[in-house]
Amino acid sequence: MAGLRGKLERLLYPQVCSFCDGLIPEKGDGARRYVCRACESDLPFRHNDEIYPEHTPFLLLLSFYYEEPLQLALRQLKFHGRTDFAPALARYLCQTYRRHRLLCDAIVPMPLHYKRLKQRGYNQAGLLAAAMAELMDLPLVEDLLLRERASARQSEYRSREEKMANVQGIFCVDEGYLAALSGRRVLLLDDIVTSGATMSAAGVCLEEVGIEVVGLACAGGGLRTDERGS
Ligand SMILES: [Zn+2]
Repeated sequence: MAGLRGKLERLLYPQVCSFCDGLIPEKGDGARRYVCRACESDLPFRHNDEIYPEHTPFLLLLSFYYEEPLQLALRQLKFHGRTDFAPALARYLCQTYRRHRLLCDAIVPMPLHYKRLKQRGYNQAGLLAAAMAELMDLPLVEDLLLRERASARQSEYRSREEKMANVQGIFCVDEGYLAALSGRRVLLLDDIVTSGATMSAAGVCLEEVGIEVVGLACAGGGLRTDERGS
């Protein structure tokens, strides 16, 4: 049935590259592709550098450096309604996750404050998490974490301590999920990371109620030059 559905989808919606709009030649019955080979080769993969060097209490995995054309993809996803970039990038997040042999029971996206969610109409991290959960056949728990207040922009704070203080207490957990998720392992997902402080605060919040965080995963973060120089 899945095979037939895939064939029908491809007949009705040919596979088009999210970056260049070029048609992607069909190949078997695998998952739908969103990035052509040429554009894929331009992506700033972190390859052997997927563990983020910033210190966080959790393992933080990144698939890409935050450089073009990934920046463009994330901006399009976040601000211009290009939701096709979520499944396009989720494929690479899955590869990163598998390479590091993590095991989790569910995927949890970083929440947006409800005012931002209302403005944008969707949570880009939620879309990435949904696409990843589908590819890995794992449950998505989209509203496990709630954002109680919008934090000030992290870039306004200099030190790591200031950043951590800015995000403390901004998350809480929807208690309706506690019975089902207590003692379970989750992967926390976001689109971009800078210091990792906001994600770490969310992770701590989950662990405090007995939900194990196996890691944090983001599509992009860091620049090749920064990390080479340090
Ligand atoms: Zn392309």
